[in-house]
Amino acid sequence: MCKRVAILGSTGSIGRQTLSVIAAHPDLFKAVLLTANSSVDLLAEQAAAFGVRAAVICRSELEGRLQTLLAGTSVKALSGMDAVCEQVAAEDVDIVVTSTVGFSGLRPTLAAIRAGKTIALANKETLVAAGSLVMKLAAEKGVGILPVDSEHSAIFQCLQAAGDNRVSKIHLTASGGPFRTWPREQIAATTKDMALKHPSWNMGNKITIDSATMMNKGFEVIEARWLFDTPPSKINVVVYPESVIHSMVEFEDGAVIAQMGMPDMREPIQLALSYPQRLPLDNKKIDFAALGSLNFFEPSYENFPCLGLAFKALEKGGNIPCAMNAANEVAVAAYLKDKIGFYDISDVISRTMDAVTFIADPSEEDIFQTNDLAAEISARMI
Ligand code: MG
Repeated sequence: MCKRVAILGSTGSIGRQTLSVIAAHPDLFKAVLLTANSSVDLLAEQAAAFGVRAAVICRSELEGRLQTLLAGTSVKALSGMDAVCEQVAAEDVDIVVTSTVGFSGLRPTLAAIRAGKTIALANKETLVAAGSLVMKLAAEKGVGILPVDSEHSAIFQCLQAAGDNRVSKIHLTASGGPFRTWPREQIAATTKDMALKHPSWNMGNKITIDSATMMNKGFEVIEARWLFDTPPSKINVVVYPESVIHSMVEFEDGAVIAQMGMPDMREPIQLALSYPQRLPLDNKKIDFAALGSLNFFEPSYENFPCLGLAFKALEKGGNIPCAMNAANEVAVAAYLKDKIGFYDISDVISRTMDAVTFIADPSEEDIFQTNDLAAEISARMI
């Protein structure tokens, strides 16, 4: 039976790799819906090549262009976030890959969960901003959330070996980003061009900056907290630059199960689509002798304050992680325009977290309001 796939954010790095997985297994997967924020030309090209039912461009002013590009094909060309939310709930969608960037992924993800669709979660900001809400709704609807993030896919795989046994620790591996070994003063003087050179993963701009600040790892701590219902005290971040171990789970007897593979996002994407089955993949396999040794380090909370901010946000709970995420989006966008420096990012986030009104048990509306308010506060600060 063919699994029918919707991809939110098909023109980004994860979206494109999802399409390559689908193309490699046309008998098993069929893309039925693609959405993109603004890359209208690529969206039209993908939609036509994969013969999807519908393509949605989020920026409504681009709908005319999408229609022109798709004229003469059978693809329905639509625009706007309402259309994304409506289409994702359509009857012919079995699984939704949420590979959009940032908070904007939350609304369509909630819509998909409400419609009972399985989620292949790549948009970690969804769980950072609204983890409690999302997990509760998914449980209510009996919807499975399969992690696409490499670390969480790894933990998910390691947990298959857990049975009924208690996990004593999750070891979340971090590459450490491009500034792992640099002194703080040198990091402070870096520009976006240096931050955009990630040593092991080739990703979109926003997540690459998040990796350089280690905010990405902070997000992943929060993501793990919700996906695996694990208290933050049981989540240990360990820097491991080789990025071949994707994460590990430790049991009470000290046994540690690790999941390994060469860094290639098609592996966790494909597993999320084919789960519980594993399919062949034309990726590079591990050559252990060539790898030689594995090197682990303590992360520097001093040089990468965003990581500590994420633990602080989790500890405070409520709407604070949502505020942290909003501030980060605004600060990273400003950093990418050379408006602020590297450590201004964590300063803006920290001060925004302190400035928003705390809501202990935020509703969906509270989350959207907190996001807007926190974005406004940080923009003013910048
Ligand atoms: Mg990751």
